[in-house]
Amino acid sequence: TTFIGASFGGIAEMYAQIQKAVGATERVFELLDEQPEAISSTMDSANIEKLKGTVTFKNVAFSYPSRKEIEVLKDVNFDVAFGQKIAIVGPSGAGKSTIASLLLRFYDIEGGPILIDGKNIYEYDLETLRGNMSIVPQDVILFGGTIKENIAYGKPNATNDEIFAAAKQANALNFIESFPEQFETIVGERGIKLSGGQRQRIAIARALLKNPSILILDEATSSLDSESEKLVQEALEILMQGRTSIIIAHRLSTIRTADQILVLDNGIVSEKGTHQELIALENGKYKNLSNLQFTDF
Ligand code: ATP
Repeated sequence: TTFIGASFGGIAEMYAQIQKAVGATERVFELLDEQPEAISSTMDSANIEKLKGTVTFKNVAFSYPSRKEIEVLKDVNFDVAFGQKIAIVGPSGAGKSTIASLLLRFYDIEGGPILIDGKNIYEYDLETLRGNMSIVPQDVILFGGTIKENIAYGKPNATNDEIFAAAKQANALNFIESFPEQFETIVGERGIKLSGGQRQRIAIARALLKNPSILILDEATSSLDSESEKLVQEALEILMQGRTSIIIAHRLSTIRTADQILVLDNGIVSEKGTHQELIALENGKYKNLSNLQFTDF
């Protein structure tokens, strides 16, 4: 998967627009080469239809336009009820991030459909679709501006009180208030450099403010220092409450508490169930994976 830095000029501009639409994502995804639709969209989440947030993938198949010969997803099926937490696990390259990209409509799918609240995602306008979703990526890149602007990005008309409350809930208030300029502190390339955990908490505050029905969480593979990790986890727990969460999961504790785990392998969902159910499968893929791969044993 591709990541971008903050200083590519035109790309940074596109990225800013995507962030505005989506909440926060570091992935250029496909935007660079294939989907002008995805970058022409900006939104103001205040005026869009609020979705409930049930998600269904039905026989979803997909190949990247630049690599048509490889079927990244062959036949992916799952249902996530409103408010559920689903963890997607699987080996590197299995297609976990691709599932998130498709839900955000960064690419057109081949098989399908993908439904939200029972309706094909292609029947929503992009503003509605993305206005109801936030992403908290592994590595959050903030744009060059103040902390306040970075938090308010998904809701440009937010009041100071709302921004403050979101920062507080996201466990970001302490470090923000430790800076002389507080919420007016400039971050990004020319400003104060925040730690990975601090940037994640800014992204969580942004998502809280946007108040999406669907949350896409790309968990960090490498852990933060344990204090920061704890603050981020607490904030994420609050963020996930009352929303549908789709988590590209690397932490066993997340996976254990998920309502449903999808094991993605070779373009299909090879196992589906709770931790208890999957761990009971003799020679199961999940069982093997959990012995090898998850970070917080
Ligand atoms: P990881 O755990 O390493 O992040 P993943 O399960 O999220 O992996 P994806 O990033 O969804 O996997 O990638 C699935 C497959 O699609 C891989 O073979 C990858 O090389 C390919 N792929 C990903 N993004 C693109 C792209 N923009 N263009 C072409 N191929 C891509």
